[in-house]
This record gives sequence, C-alpha cells and structure tokens, in this order.
Amino acid sequence: MVKLPIYMDNHATTPLDPRVLKAMMPYLTDQFGNAASRNHKFGWEAEEAVEEARRQIAALIGADAREIVFTSGATESDNLAVKGVAWMYREKGDHIITAVTEHKAILDTCKHLEKEGFRVTFLPVDSKGLVDLDDLRKAITDKTILISIMTANNEVGVIQDIKAIGKIARERGVLFHTDAVQAAGKVPFNVNEMNVDIASLSAHKFYGPKGVGALYVRRRNPRVLLTPIIDGGGHERGMRSGTLNVPGIAGFGKAAQIAREEMPKESAEMFRLRERLRTTLERELDEIYINGDLQRRLPGNLNMSFAYVEGESLLMGINDVAVSSGSACTSASLEPSYVLKALGVGEDLAHTSIRFGIGRFNTEEEVDYVAGRVTEVVRRLRELSPLYEMAKEGIDLKSVHWATEA
Ligand SMILES: *Cc1c(COP(=O)(O)O)cnc(C)c1O
Repeated sequence: MVKLPIYMDNHATTPLDPRVLKAMMPYLTDQFGNAASRNHKFGWEAEEAVEEARRQIAALIGADAREIVFTSGATESDNLAVKGVAWMYREKGDHIITAVTEHKAILDTCKHLEKEGFRVTFLPVDSKGLVDLDDLRKAITDKTILISIMTANNEVGVIQDIKAIGKIARERGVLFHTDAVQAAGKVPFNVNEMNVDIASLSAHKFYGPKGVGALYVRRRNPRVLLTPIIDGGGHERGMRSGTLNVPGIAGFGKAAQIAREEMPKESAEMFRLRERLRTTLERELDEIYINGDLQRRLPGNLNMSFAYVEGESLLMGINDVAVSSGSACTSASLEPSYVLKALGVGEDLAHTSIRFGIGRFNTEEEVDYVAGRVTEVVRRLRELSPLYEMAKEGIDLKSVHWATEA
C-alpha cells in the first residue's frame, strides 16, 4: 500500500533531499560562522562553504562562480533582476518586455516599475503557452533595456525557446533575463548556450531548503550591472547586502550538484511517470484536456482539465493527494488561473484543472494510485452531472436555452 497523503505538487516546493540536509547540518551546528568574518576560522569555514556552493550552482548552469549572487529566493532574484536593470539603465531606455504568463514576482515587479514611469510590454502567448518570436522582435524598440521571459512555466510546465529569445535580445543589444526556477536542475539549462544574461534560481524547487536563491549575473560579453534593491554592507559584490544564509547556501550547492549529476536519469524517470499518469487518465476518461504544449514541457508536469466536474468537488474527492488547481481560491472570489486564461482556456475548464507536479521522490505506485483516485472521482462526479449526460447524448450545450437566462 502507498503511504498517504501523497505529495504531487513539486512545482510549489519540493521536499528536502536527505543528502542536502546532511550537507547543511554542520553549518546549523558547530560551523556557525559568518561568511563575512575575515579574522578567524569560523568565518573562513563559512566562507569556504559558500564558495563551494557558488561553484556547484555555477556548474549546474554553465556559469562562472563569480557570476552567482545569493538572495533570499527567486522572488527576490526576480525583483533584483528587473528593478536592478531598470534602475541601472534608466538613462539608456525605459522599456521592458515580458510575457503575460510570467510568475507574479516578475509581473508585479513590472507593474511597480510602470508606476515609476517605465513602459512594459506584456507579450501574449499562443494556445500552447508559447511566446511568438515575431511578436517579440516587433516589440523591441531602441528604448528597450530588458527582456524577461521565463524558461519553464510553473503552472503548465511549458518551456520557451530560450536560446532563440536570447539570440534576438543579443542581436538587438538588449539584456535578457530568464526566471529559470522551474527549469534549472530539471532540464538542461546553460547560460552561454542559451544567450542568457541574468537568471533567477531557487533552492527549494530542486530539493534544497526554502528561503535561499540566486541570481546569475553575466560578467562579460556583455558585463551586466545592477542597481541593488537592498542597501547595506556591500556583500555579494555590492549587489545584495545582508549576512549570507550559510546553511541554506550549503544545501543549495549540494542540491545543485545532485541535480547536475542525476538529471539525465532523473528527468527520464519523471517523464516516464508523467506519461504513465497521462496515458492512464486518457485511457480511462473522456472529455479531458491537456493545458499547454505537451512536447515543450517539463518532464514532471501534467496540467489537465476535466470537463463536466466541479473543480472544488474534484479536489475534495482526491484530498489524500496534494496537487494544485487552476482556481486561485481567495476568500472573496474564485478567480481562474491567469496563466490558463492567457492560453485561452475557458473559465469552466480552468476551474476544473489540476496541476500534477511529479518529483524525485514520487513512485510508480503513487502515480497509479493517483490515476485511480482521479478516475474514480471524476466518474462519480459525472454520474451526478446532467450536463455530462446531455453532452453524451449528443446535445449541443451551447444551443440549450436555459430557464434561468430567460
Ligand atoms: C517558486 C517560483 C518563484 C518564487 O521563488 P521563491 O524562491 O519561492 O521566492 C519564482 N518563479 C517561479 C517560476 C517559481 O516557480
């Protein structure tokens, strides 16, 4: 029997890998020094741990260790990237390009900058979730200072053509930032091969601890300068002041090392499990829809809508499985996901969508259990659905005249 509840929400966060915890322990206990203490062994040990992690993280993304700036997580990294470029290059231009499906850490930062007088183009995406490269080319002006497009989306797992976007940015002399949080450690991501100038990373999305992240900042061809968003002691080459989270950083480094070494094997396994889940559901149920491109996609992501069921009831029915839904349920409103909306998914289907995030510690037994539960609950809910019955009888629901609409 599988152990319940099952965690299958690995885009929200991932469990800490035991090997990562082990690497962190010394810095939570005896080796508690401040990495900025230059006069004693405690400080030197902490600094050595930080530099080792810097090398491990740089190796994961093909960067130089000196190009890694530690932060409190990717929300801060995204803020530092976008505000840092905007404020530093203000003289050069006031225009930023991003996309409507970005994480809130990017969208809200851009909206903040709009209030400061910057102009932001929010590019649309197609029904697969992809940015159109011609749209991007057309949006660039001689006032454009930054393009920020995420590598892999956290809801639908769709992977943009980062290499091509980076090439366009470089040809036009515009800096290119990518939120690589969901991609790094899961799929190959190399800042040089992909023409990336700035990239956000977060430890807890690849089996490291929460509250620690990094920003990759290119040092040459071109050298990127950022105005800091936090003032203080001038840590991290002046780009991010504050005492470093040494245990967190040591864990981040270890997590990056494991991800780099195990990625080929692990991503193949994630893909196998994801496809097992997908094909089982597609075999057992009709009227289900995959959201986002299936090919250009993170191996562990499956985002699916189940027509003719009520989203809330579906989630309640599978409450021993931790997943996310496409409804952002706030106290006042039930808003469908803005990402699904951007893909053109209708409100009904957005509300009945589920994001399955398969991760390192999920097993085949768990996938089979989840597929079984979802099948059972969807079938049961549909038995109670007059709409499903009508659809099955071939009645075009759009042509039905509802009494309440009179
Ligand atoms: C989780 C996530 C973030 C935020 O990262 P934190 O480290 O939790 O602040 C940013 N972007 C994407 C795509 C994410 O998935």
